[in-house]
Amino acid sequence: MIYLDHNATTQPAPQAVQEMLDALTRVWANPSSVHAPGQAARRLLVDARARVSAFIGCQPAELVFTSGATEANHIAVLGALARGKALGRTRLVLSAVEHPGLLALAERLRGEGTPVDLIPVRADGQLDRAAARALVGRDVALLSVMGANNETGVLMPLAELAALAQAHEVPFHVDATQLVGKQALRFDASGADLWSLSAHKLHGPKGVGALVLKKGLAWPSLQAGRQERGRRGGTENLPGIVGFAAAAEMATATLADDLARMLALREQLEAGLLALHHDVVVVSAAAPRLPNTVCLRFGVLDAEQVLNKLERAGVVASSGAACTAAGTQPSHVLLAMGASRDEAKASVRLSLGRETTTDDITQTLAAVRRAVLPLMQAEHQAVEA
Ligand code: PMP
Repeated sequence: MIYLDHNATTQPAPQAVQEMLDALTRVWANPSSVHAPGQAARRLLVDARARVSAFIGCQPAELVFTSGATEANHIAVLGALARGKALGRTRLVLSAVEHPGLLALAERLRGEGTPVDLIPVRADGQLDRAAARALVGRDVALLSVMGANNETGVLMPLAELAALAQAHEVPFHVDATQLVGKQALRFDASGADLWSLSAHKLHGPKGVGALVLKKGLAWPSLQAGRQERGRRGGTENLPGIVGFAAAAEMATATLADDLARMLALREQLEAGLLALHHDVVVVSAAAPRLPNTVCLRFGVLDAEQVLNKLERAGVVASSGAACTAAGTQPSHVLLAMGASRDEAKASVRLSLGRETTTDDITQTLAAVRRAVLPLMQAEHQAVEA
């Protein structure tokens, strides 16, 4: 099987699994206990925090471990609203292409009376900068824009947004889930106040991630308790955190090589796909993008049909669209870019990982030629008839 769904999740690295196993079987005491086994667990936690913060480019004290990026996004948004109340800052400004979990939270808050504005994106998936400038003002509790979109890979103008937020003294949150491990960007150089992260996108375990909170920024917590300097109560998920640290360390060691290799393979894949048929469209082809992501359409062939065919031919990937009991919903990202419902339902995402090989790309192109091209040719003839 060729796995091209790395933006959904990645395979845990053997080193991460090994260190997790060690934390589960050997260093399993509570890091808050004062006895020797507890202190051994505490040392492991301190060490893991140092390793992850070295990878992120933040100070260890700025890192709050969470159950993943979804929780970190919740702390960012709900904390901002709680904090903003006293400051007369009640409005949320998000991009229209944020992760569905974050948009669902915003929608819920809007239903409860919070003013929410979504920054639109242009047809190429890039953020509408003029709209962002018009929407950010002194009544804003939080500006939240993802670092890179999970469906298209399009990078957001973080430096410009940071300056905009700073000019209005608005805290700037970046959902950096898709960015880390795929871009050489450090928190301390990003200009952002908060970052959300997830370990399972960089070969760590699921169910663990972090919120990076800039030093000096007082942020209300959602879970009361002493852990994480009172910013996230609950006994720490030490095995998960240790696995996160191992994965982060491995990503740091090979980042530059990984990025260059993924980009070369992605270009090989895109060129091969575009050469197959003139109805193949690479979405956001000209926009600055992550090096591992290709979002594309095979004419207007439904993504579900394409993905089924590909899986039977040995290649697994995803659509950006959400599957519901009622069928496939068109991708909100593609719709926000002005795509038609048919186009949005036709979008397929192939996302490469650091273990993807040239041979995988060759085989993927062969699988597309075998399994998808005949459908496109049939569709083309039907349209012409
Ligand atoms: N934000 C983005 C941009 C994502 O891609 C994802 C994962 N699909 C999440 C948040 C959620 O991360 P987690 O699974 O750690 O909650």
